[in-house]
Amino acid sequence: KIVPSEALSRVQPSATLAVTQKARELKAAGVDVIGLGAGEPDFDTPDHIKDAAIAAIRANKTRYTAVDGIPELKAAITAKFKRENGLDYGLDQVTVAPGGKPILFNAFTATLNPGDEVVIPAPYWVSYPDMVKLAGGTPVIAPAKVENGFKLTPADLDAAINPKTKWFVFNSPSNPTGAGYTPEEIKALTEVLLRHPHVMVMTDDMYEHIVYDGFTVKTVAQVEPRLYERTLTTNGVSKAFSMTGWRIGYAGGPKDLIKAMGKVISQTTSNACSISQWAAVAALEGPMDFLKARNDAFRARRDRMLADIAEADGLHAVTPNGAFYIFVDCSEAIGRTAPHGKRLETDIEFCDALLEAEGVAVVPGTAFGSAPAFRLSYATDDDALIEAGQRIRRFCAGLS
Ligand code: PLP
Repeated sequence: KIVPSEALSRVQPSATLAVTQKARELKAAGVDVIGLGAGEPDFDTPDHIKDAAIAAIRANKTRYTAVDGIPELKAAITAKFKRENGLDYGLDQVTVAPGGKPILFNAFTATLNPGDEVVIPAPYWVSYPDMVKLAGGTPVIAPAKVENGFKLTPADLDAAINPKTKWFVFNSPSNPTGAGYTPEEIKALTEVLLRHPHVMVMTDDMYEHIVYDGFTVKTVAQVEPRLYERTLTTNGVSKAFSMTGWRIGYAGGPKDLIKAMGKVISQTTSNACSISQWAAVAALEGPMDFLKARNDAFRARRDRMLADIAEADGLHAVTPNGAFYIFVDCSEAIGRTAPHGKRLETDIEFCDALLEAEGVAVVPGTAFGSAPAFRLSYATDDDALIEAGQRIRRFCAGLS
């Protein structure tokens, strides 16, 4: 019998798994299930990126590389940070790992000691708290209120910081809410951080390029250059370039931190896939014009889903600025009874009942530290979304 480590024992099994597993079982049993749980674009990787990968294979760029990235990719990353974010990072200030996830985990592993705290605004992306726990630290959840558009206020941040705080994790546009912070809102948070010089900032800009209605992302060190030395600016190609399977994430930050993260990589994953790294060079250096049509499609889907939610009895949502999720408040549905006779006590039960009654799979807000709510992803084809919207409305109308 395997006895899990203490670190692993502190990690909760993902609440999303229950719904995903149930959806899989229902599908296998022949039920018509629409999955709105996925966190990836349904678009293909652009051809010029695929071609670069094929060329890399043909050129035998298939061996180990420098552990934290080939120089060509590092150069493309420094150019990207300069061009898009106004940030100057040297080649020794950027690092590459097999996805955004390992970038974040490497940074936590490289810096956290038992007792160190990491402030995470909720609703949060599911992995942040568990990564912190796995790396030996303690997550401190700072709830962002729905009336503030799910964005943390300076007072919320200030209340969560204490002498043990090591990191503040910042994610805009956010998974799961799609909320994007304006430069003014970021500036207000940085004022708090300037008063607490022992706190480092980990900004996760993964959804930087998936934005709507003219919203543009500014990153923390760009808004407040005095935080440059204390900020790890993380990003990746997964979402913007529809490259989730290629596994490339990257970050820019203080030299010492980047070096420490390289040490973690050298004894764990080693380099990210050599072929994917060459594909990422093509992504970062290539055209971005394909994004407009994709974002237009996402925005149309977002608006259609928002309209369905507005019409659904008891559901409410804040309009997202970016990413491809809607975080839906279902508090008015709690306490009502589903068609199969069960009283819905929690958002987990709401999501279970929605899946059972209508075959629509969404993830309960509990998994993101904010309940009762659910997250749906609209990175799915239009026909499925139209049908899902109808089913959600029918389900809510059927609650008594
Ligand atoms: N950060 C956020 C906010 C995400 O939503 C995701 C993926 O879901 C990641 C990071 C990780 O991306 P990757 O697939 O590159 O590991």
